[in-house]
This record gives sequence, C-alpha cells and structure tokens, in this order.
Amino acid sequence: MPLPLRSLHAFAGGVHPLGNKNTDVLPSIHLHGFKEVELLMQQHIGPPCTCVVKPGDHVDVGTLVGRADKPMSVPIHSSISGTVKEVHYVVSANGAPVEAVRIESDFNHTINPFCKPPKVESFEDFVQMIRDSGLVGLGGAAFPTYIKINPPKNKMPDTLIVNAAECEPYITADYRQICEHPDDIIDGILEVMKWLEIPKTIIGVEDNKPLVTRIFSHEIKKRIYKTGKHPDIEVRTLKTIYPQGAEKMLIYTLTGRKVPPGKLPIDVHTLVMNVSTLRFIGLYLKEGIPLTRKRMTLDGSALNTPGNFIVPIGARIQDIIEAAGGTREEPKKIIMGGAMMGVALDRIDHGIIKANNAILVFGSEETTLPPESPCIRCARCVNSCPMDLIPCGIDKATRLRDTEMLEKYHVMDCIECGCCTYACPSKRFLTQSIKNGKVMVRAERARIKKEQELLAASQQKGGSSPS
Ligand code: SF4
Ligand code: SF4
Repeated sequence: MPLPLRSLHAFAGGVHPLGNKNTDVLPSIHLHGFKEVELLMQQHIGPPCTCVVKPGDHVDVGTLVGRADKPMSVPIHSSISGTVKEVHYVVSANGAPVEAVRIESDFNHTINPFCKPPKVESFEDFVQMIRDSGLVGLGGAAFPTYIKINPPKNKMPDTLIVNAAECEPYITADYRQICEHPDDIIDGILEVMKWLEIPKTIIGVEDNKPLVTRIFSHEIKKRIYKTGKHPDIEVRTLKTIYPQGAEKMLIYTLTGRKVPPGKLPIDVHTLVMNVSTLRFIGLYLKEGIPLTRKRMTLDGSALNTPGNFIVPIGARIQDIIEAAGGTREEPKKIIMGGAMMGVALDRIDHGIIKANNAILVFGSEETTLPPESPCIRCARCVNSCPMDLIPCGIDKATRLRDTEMLEKYHVMDCIECGCCTYACPSKRFLTQSIKNGKVMVRAERARIKKEQELLAASQQKGGSSPS
C-alpha cells in the first residue's frame, strides 16, 4: 500500500486566500419540496439539447426532457416528478438566451420506471452509458464526460488523476462527498481504470485536508482486504495553494507533465476527473438514475444556516436559499460558484445547472470594493499568474481594445482563476478585464473567419465563371 507522499513538483504563481471552509464539518442535507424547477436545455460545453416535452406532459424523475442530437452534447432529464408547464426562452446566468422547460412538481418524487442499473459489457457500452446518464464534469467545467473518457486511440491516458483538491475558498461540496461516499468514489475510479485500461490513479489532496487523505487510504485498504486485488491507486498530498485544483496545475504538480497552451490533459496522456464526477459514475452503475441532483455549498455572511445541500437540478436559486434557511440580512452580492472564480448574479430566479457547486450570499461587509487605482507596475499580478501570463499587459490591451496585442499576450490561455486580481495592490479589476479581452478576441477571430470564407466563396465564383 503506497503511503501518501508530498508532491515533488510545484507550479509557479498562485495565491493564498483564506480557505473559509466553514461548512466542512456539516453533513449534507437533502432539500425536497420545491414547487417547480426550470431546466435549461444548455447545461454543458457544446451544442444545446433538443427539447422533447411539451406543456401538459407528465414527467418523472429521470424522464428525458432534452435530447442530445449533436456531438459534444449530453441529455437532460427531469429532476422532479410533475407536469411540464411551459417551454420558453430565458436569459441564463451568463446572459445568453436559452430554451428552458418549466416543470411543476406533484411532490411525489416518482422515479421513472425505465431507470435501471445499466448493463456494461464493453468500452463502447461504458461510453454510451456515461452519455445516456447526462454526466458532465461536476467540478464546474461542465465538459461532457463521455467525450473525456473516449479520446483518440493514440492518446489513451496512462494516468487517471482524481481531483480532490477543492482549492476554492468556501466550497466544501467535494469534501463532504468524500466524507460521506468514499466507497462510491472508489467504485467510480475502478470502473474508469477498468474500461479505459488505465494502469495508475493518483488522488491529489491538499495538505489542509488530512481527513480526506485518511479516508481514501482506509477505503483503498478495505478494497484490498475484501478483494485480494491491489489497485494502483495512490493518495498524494499537495501543498495548499490556489489554484492547485486547476487541471493544468494539478497535472504538473502530480506528474511533472506540462500541458502546452491550447492543448488538453489528454495530449499528455492524463485524464483528470473530479471526485463528484467519479462518485456519480459509481452510483449510476448501481441505481441507473441519471444526473438529476447536485450537491452544493451555501455559505456567506448573509445566510442564516450555511451548509451543504443536495438539490434538484433546475431548482431556482431564490428557492434554494429559502429552503436552506433563508437570509439574516439583505444580501448585497450573490455569487454562483466560488469566491475566486464565481460569477456575481444580477437575478436569483435562475434554475441551477449541472455545473453549479456553490451559492455564496454576502452581506455588506465583504462586498464593499475599494475603487480601482492606477497600476504601479509592481508585477505582483505577473508573479501570481499560474499560466505565466502578463495580466497588467492584457488589461491594458483590453482597455485599448487592441485585439492584436491581446493575441500577442496569449489572452486565451487565461484560466480565469482570479489570482492576479487577488494579488493586485491597486485593486484593479484584472480578471474581469481579461474576460472582456477574451470576448473581443473571439469576436475578432469570428469576423476574420467570416471574411476569409466570403473571400474564398467569391474567388471560387470568379474562378468558375466563363472568361
Ligand atoms: S486570471 Fe488569468 S491572467 Fe489572472 S492570474 Fe489567473 S490565469 Fe493569470
Ligand atoms: S499587480 Fe496591479 S499594480 Fe501591480 S503591476 Fe499588476 S496591475 Fe499593476
């Protein structure tokens, strides 16, 4: 049995925000009794689903609501039983219009009778089963898992990295998942290792979570005792530093492999999966209920009872806050996600999506922002950037709307971790500005592509016309 080791590699940059893991000792609570849910037809990176229900239809928990017709898309299932009331367009939390299905609950929580443990006899079955379950990366990325576990044959992974770092302040949903369901997580790991023929797994845990290291080590020992088999699963302790849990950082810290800019973990033969994603795989194989519920951390000074809650996907944020105990003061800022990478909301009637893992509700104390002041060229933002970027330069290029300069500064490599904003003594809104810079570059690239296509089309027309 390998002992937990301290990692030899460490990425450059990073910051040390206060952990504020206030809810890590609180057992997760199931929240039921939501009157309705609103399921968005786009809950993953990739094309949206096609809605297959209409007003008046009855649905159960696990009934297909959104069909995945295109590659990179995964189905969406009802998270409650009840009646479809409306299929309409809403504005999502990121400001994009998206089709949504509103379902009114019958409060029976009836599970669809077709939800049965899947039969998996081959790698192809495994990939299809993962797609049918509607699974996406539950660490927040929402990348369809069936794509991740089905790489080209020349890029098959030799190492599975299990992300148990949970380095974002406040969030403890993965921590509770590990404390409460380590057996399902190990089942998920073994299934992925088996079907992808991955010889080795490394579980990365930050050194501020010694209990997690002990739980996993104990669970692995139990398996060895029970089965007589010795899976090559190693639990490794990582330095506590933000953003240790970012994919590229984790891969470098645990294996010494660097994922080149614009490339994916699979290009260096690693597969990174979050503990909650693996737990879902372990559970789905036993129960066959698609992804319909989500464990979330609710925290922040304006809440009455912070904690971890398991809620139906599509439940509205305002209803979740209310069901979890409500607020003790008028919230000044509500953030979807963590304090470093989360998005501040302007409305709270959105239904939560598969990727959401936290809602932070802050009162006035934490949300008073000092005004921006001029850059003093101290380079703290540069030193804190884990991606070796020059945030102050990107910020300047964004403010000048200089897309050429933004490309030169590799703006698209930014992982939006927020370290530069955190480190800046002038309190400049660097990450926000960099996000705007990325939007500008995307728009410029699209414009150039369209221009090239038009030019090529007109040349083709000209070439084929009689002279
Ligand atoms: S937000 Fe982007 S630029 Fe800023 S530190 Fe993170 S990766 Fe670097
Ligand atoms: S940390 Fe802030 S003040 Fe310092 S160089 Fe970067 S942007 Fe300028």
